Amino acid sequence: MRIVVIGAGLGGLALARRLRREGFDVGVVERDASAEARFQGYRIGLEPDGLAALRGCLTERLLPLLDAVAGEMTGAGRAVDPQLNLLAELPPRYEGLLFDRAVLRHLLLAGIEDIVTFDRHLTGYREHADGVVLTYADGSTETADLVVGADGMGSTVRRQLLPDVEVRDLGRYGGIGRTPLTERFADLVPGWSTMVSAPDVQLMLGKMPFRRSPRAAAAELAPEVALPDTPSYLRWVMLLPPDRAELGAHLADDQDGGLAVLRSIAAGWHPDLVALLAEADRANSGVGPLRLGDPVEPWETGRVTLLGDAGHPVPPGGAGAALAFLDAADLTNALVAARDGGTTRTAALAGYEQRMCARGAESRAQALAAFQMFDAARSAS
Ligand SMILES: Cc1cc2nc3c(=O)[nH]c(=O)nc-3n(C[C@H](O)[C@H](O)[C@H](O)COP(=O)(O)OP(=O)(O)OC[C@H]3O[C@@H](n4cnc5c(N)ncnc54)[C@H](O)[C@@H]3O)c2cc1C
Repeated sequence: MRIVVIGAGLGGLALARRLRREGFDVGVVERDASAEARFQGYRIGLEPDGLAALRGCLTERLLPLLDAVAGEMTGAGRAVDPQLNLLAELPPRYEGLLFDRAVLRHLLLAGIEDIVTFDRHLTGYREHADGVVLTYADGSTETADLVVGADGMGSTVRRQLLPDVEVRDLGRYGGIGRTPLTERFADLVPGWSTMVSAPDVQLMLGKMPFRRSPRAAAAELAPEVALPDTPSYLRWVMLLPPDRAELGAHLADDQDGGLAVLRSIAAGWHPDLVALLAEADRANSGVGPLRLGDPVEPWETGRVTLLGDAGHPVPPGGAGAALAFLDAADLTNALVAARDGGTTRTAALAGYEQRMCARGAESRAQALAAFQMFDAARSAS
């Protein structure tokens, strides 16, 4: 059985590793030109279940490297005003570890480079009784027995499979970026997070403190793995009110324009916060609209399925990566059960799709609750 995974993001790579280890014939297709293309670097917090699912797709050899490039998530959070006066202490969040997404993506690629094709953009597919014909932007085609759409929030696969599921703008913009973690900025976040609450704007700060430099750790623990030379950083996310229409002119392709707007919003704030935005790593900062997908309900099972953000399109910041890792473990187990004769492939896939949709529904409810919380904080400030 030939399985083609569309998308070499966190979920697609985790799935491909597991399927290959189980002996399946699997290939991954990715539209980006390389793992370094475009903005990739923000921190990902994983609680124990997501972390266990991530560890389960890595080889024993890579686990010490994973541990070495993690960061601790400890301590209480706090809310402050734009002059850094304490407004409230927040309870510790959860036991977990922090990772940089770009570092994780490189780790997940290590050892399976031969089955990942970059610079290949899926444009659509045709499902037949005996296979699925995939069509790419360069005009080429290939046939698969099973296709897994792991192609993220704007999934081409989902748009064709479930055309009624739309991803809608929430009418809100978010700015995201990172700034190298100097002592001055480390003091801004003594615990797991600091929320700067201003009228109509929230700025969330969180550290990504690597235990060891990723490149140096790889050189010592697994020299065959090339990890980016990313220094520890402070990740910031600015949630803006709906009436910042001028941000629409500064999306993705205009980092400088977007950053300039964010800096103008924070003008007059505490000098440490002004400096934080002034010293942002511009290649890893920008603004964009926040989007939420319609609920995804189980569909008639066939030869095309979904995984990760493609199957549960929720706005960033929740547990999307953890869900993608859990989906990858679940889908692999289902396909192994079908292969080993415990069930039919259709029944195994249907079970996976039900559980995947249930995970998505829970995560969607949490995302909506988080937005309501921010709106409540906004009207209170
Ligand atoms: C700022 C931010 C903070 C976050 N924080 C957390 C966190 O703390 N914890 C957590 O668990 N999650 C977090 N997330 C969410 C997490 O990053 C995502 O849920 C996760 O990356 C989803 O993985 P995925 O494989 O489904 O999709 P992606 O990682 O988006 O990968 C999809 C891939 O498919 C490729 N692709 C798309 N279309 C095509 C096509 N037509 N043909 C070929 N390839 C295609 C894309 O180029 C991409 O590489 C955060 C997200 C953001 C943006």
